[in-house]
Order: sequence, then C-alpha cells, then structure tokens
Amino acid sequence: MYRACPVCNDTDTLPTVSRARIPILQNRVYDTRDEALSAASGRLTLCTCSRCGFSYNGEFDDSLIVYDKHYNNDVPSRTFEIYSEEIARSLIEKFDLTSGTVYDVGCGKGTFLRILCKLAPGIKGIGIDPSCTPTAEDNFTLVQDVFRPGSFQPDTKLVLLRHVLEHITKPVDFLTELGNAAPNIPLYVEVPEVDWIFENGAFWDFCYEHCNYFSAKSLRNALQLAGFSEIEQSSSFGGQYQWAIGKANGAHGALSPNGAEAVGAAKAYAQSENVAMEKVRAIIASSDSTVVWGMATKGVILSCLMENASISDGIDINANKQEKFAPLSGVRIHAPEWLNHHPAQTILVMNGNYGAEIRQTLSELGVSAKVVVM
Ligand SMILES: [Zn+2]
Repeated sequence: MYRACPVCNDTDTLPTVSRARIPILQNRVYDTRDEALSAASGRLTLCTCSRCGFSYNGEFDDSLIVYDKHYNNDVPSRTFEIYSEEIARSLIEKFDLTSGTVYDVGCGKGTFLRILCKLAPGIKGIGIDPSCTPTAEDNFTLVQDVFRPGSFQPDTKLVLLRHVLEHITKPVDFLTELGNAAPNIPLYVEVPEVDWIFENGAFWDFCYEHCNYFSAKSLRNALQLAGFSEIEQSSSFGGQYQWAIGKANGAHGALSPNGAEAVGAAKAYAQSENVAMEKVRAIIASSDSTVVWGMATKGVILSCLMENASISDGIDINANKQEKFAPLSGVRIHAPEWLNHHPAQTILVMNGNYGAEIRQTLSELGVSAKVVVM
C-alpha cells in the first residue's frame, strides 16, 4: 500500500513512475567502488493524488535518510552563482532588504544566504541547518539546529525555504509551523517543478531524497492549506525550479482540487518514459566511450538507470566528489582535466543550464567530443 496524500490525506492515489532501486542519498560519494556498489538503496513509486493533484513518493521512508559528513551537494559553478545572485537581488528589491533579519531555514552550508548577505549589507542573515558548521562573520550567521517555533526574532523581514520542502514528509504541517512562527512575514519557497520533469522527459530527476514533486498548482495548494495567502509564483532556472512567496495570516484556505489534470500529466509522462530511456541507451550504445558530466542528482540517477549501458566515468566540478565513486552505479567521478588523458567520444551534459559553461571548459581544455545536452 502507498502512503496517503501528504497534502490532503486522500488515499485515492495513482501510482505511475517506479524505481526498484535508487540511492537513498544521491549526493553521498564513496572511497571505493565496492562501497559504492553496495550503497543504501530505496524504492520510489510516484503517486499522484486523484483529489488534489499532489505527486509524491508513495514508498518514501524518511527514517532511511541520514545526512552525514560525506554528503555534499555543492555546485561551484558560475552559472549557478549568477542564478543565486539574480534571486538575491530580486528579493532585496522586492522586500527592501536594508535592515532587519532574514532567516534561511535548511540553508545547507549557507551558500545562498552568504550571497544575499554580501549584496544586502544592512541585514542580518541567519541560516539554520542541522548539517551546517556554526559560523559568525559580519552579518552572516549559521546555527547548527533544526527550525523550532520561536526561532525568529521580532525584526524578521523574510524567511527563505529553498530546496527543503521537497525533502519533507509532511509539507503542509511544516509550512503551518513556519507560518505560525512568522505570521505576516513573507516566506520565499523554492522547489523543483514536476511539470518541467514531465515535459522534458527528465527521468533522471526522480530521486529518493525528494519525496515531494510539486507543480505550480500543488505548491499553491500546500501553501493555502497551511494558511498562506497573497501568493505570488514564478518558474525559475530555465523552468526546472519554481518559487512562491506568501504570508501566513492564520486563515487556512480551501483545497483547490486539481486531481484529474495532474493524474493525466503523470500518466502521459509514465507512458513516454521508456522511450526517453531507450533514446539515452541508444546514444550510449552508439559511442565507444560515454562520460556523464554532472554527478549530482541527475548524473548519479541516470547512471543507476542505465544498468547495462556502459558508463564508467563521470565529471563533476565539485572537488569533494572527484576520484570518488557514485552510489549503486559505481561510476568514478573525475575533474574536467581528466578528459585530457582519457578522451571520451560522447559527453552527456546532464543539465542544459550549464551547457555553455561546460562547452567553454571543454574548449579551454582543448578537448573535443560529441556533446549531448540532456
Ligand atoms: Zn491530495
């Protein structure tokens, strides 16, 4: 049996996409191939609620997820930095961030908050994350903790929740707690966009860590049910992400049923998924050597799903991943320079947003290969 809908509690859900064995943590790397091959795995069945239209992993078990010091999801890319700066600047302008406190709940290592604090020197930025290293520099503070009611100071101007809600088993309860802790304070939520995955056949974007798959409509529903109103929404990062801003005013809104449309989209995607996978297998089969560029979620999951296709090596600019092994596939991860001595015929670029940056790196290295942007 699958879990009931985490947004509306309905049990009438439609299972579509399924994965029998994906890594529990896709950003955890291993020192040896043997360790990587026996990494912890979990099951995913994408369930879409026939009532409200929310999509989630009906087999998710959050007790399996333990983030430790080996976990590393940094993307030290200029493209990503530019994206973060754009978001930060627009928040500074929209909320006139010249003073007061901005909280970043689930801030990870605080990369985004640090950028915001540099661009808005008048604010105090406080990041809260159980996995962070406690830090206090100028107007930037990291607190190693989970969010608790009473975490926020009276001068709070804005609360950020970036790439957190897709990991949380009970997203409406969590949003409700946040809203109660910061009534009438704007909350900025950023999550991946499931309709982008569906429309782009991005089968590598379903992972264990993400138990929730929000569309624009289901994100709005979750916020409204949690008591947020004045909701503004937009897609971002080339459509792969989306954000919403709202304020909790205590009035819990009604659910907007969107089941039929969401179930239709999930079904259509699931029917087309095999074709998308076969296409990638054919690209790999037609090449003497294929290397995957981007060994974060996308490259790690793709490598696991291409069992019998021959991907043995990956590229990632995160130095902490280099010369380590990716979970379950055992793909070895290298720095871009590795290509100088190990020419690959085909390079699969896992995220089109980084396409230009990767082509630039290849050209600087003098490496020529067939580049396929996924
Ligand atoms: Zn539902």
